[in-house]
Amino acid sequence: MKLAVVEGDGIGKEVIPAAIEVLDALSLPIEKVPVELGYGKWEKTGSAITYEDLDILKECDCILFGAITTPSDPSYKSVLLTIRKELDMYANIRPIKPIDGIRGVTGRNDFNLVIVRENTEGMYSGIEEIHEDVAYTKRVITRKGSTRIAEYACKLAKNRQNRVEIVHKSNVLKSDRLFLDVCRQTASSQHVEYHDTLVDSMAYNLIVHPNRYDVIVTTNLFGDILSDMAAALVGGLGLVPSANIGKKHAFFEPVHGSAPDIAGKGIANPIAAVLSMKMMLEWYELTDEAIIVQDAIEYVINQNSVTPDLGGKSTTPEVGQAIADRVRQLID
Ligand code: ATP
Repeated sequence: MKLAVVEGDGIGKEVIPAAIEVLDALSLPIEKVPVELGYGKWEKTGSAITYEDLDILKECDCILFGAITTPSDPSYKSVLLTIRKELDMYANIRPIKPIDGIRGVTGRNDFNLVIVRENTEGMYSGIEEIHEDVAYTKRVITRKGSTRIAEYACKLAKNRQNRVEIVHKSNVLKSDRLFLDVCRQTASSQHVEYHDTLVDSMAYNLIVHPNRYDVIVTTNLFGDILSDMAAALVGGLGLVPSANIGKKHAFFEPVHGSAPDIAGKGIANPIAAVLSMKMMLEWYELTDEAIIVQDAIEYVINQNSVTPDLGGKSTTPEVGQAIADRVRQLID
């Protein structure tokens, strides 16, 4: 097993070492390949990611990724978009599941949903024109892209409640009529129950009735926004992991960004990064190890060994070490 480790920028440099400490506690035969990417690299070398970097990433089974700062400079090419496109990681999976001992903004814990976001097209097509008084971004929805994300959502749904919620804005956007039609056809052909909701209505319902949903499938930008919003249901961005899955490769990253406002202070919550590493274990089908990591996280939260965003006083390395110590105890 060969894992590329990309810390990236900002708090990525703090939360990924904590996640690696937990991984190391499992003593698995995983070769770790550090890869430097991102804004820091761009400042030093003029390039945030090179073709050589991409070759290294492609040689690894998967990537554990921290976060990257994306400056507004138009000459800066987004690292995340480059990796997702080059490695064709079309499905972004964001589980929104309460963690024992933590309540989100609504105070409820009676939900367990997963957002399946199309990752390669939509508003992030990269097809843009910027003129002095007008700017355009082309929203691209294809039958192929919609079919494969719908198929992925249906596959997940079959192991859950066998139903998908299709989120779109087809009353306004013609491109979403194609998305909606393809998702309906796919779900129907796979014998998965389906229902659809407009994205604005979903923004409300996700907060007020999160227990109504199981697998939510949607386009790129809508999925990006809804999953950050859904993070509030489980207690904040420091707790939400994600996976980017393709046919050959996968990469795992916390939903949060590089958080420049808290970078370098040692207060970033590493749990989203540790949970992303746990999703990687599941991808490798190391189910027992994934359960141990989940148990260790819950134990540490119940001990209140948490960072200030969760009301604790621990630092990022202290939380990482506490989870790793608990993993070692559970293995012994
Ligand atoms: P970027 O430009 O890289 O997306 P950002 O600051 O705009 O960075 P996030 O990194 O997602 O976006 O952060 C949003 C807010 O959430 C910030 O106030 C940040 O401090 C907080 N935050 C994000 N991640 C964490 C974390 N792991 N622990 C604690 N607070 C966090």
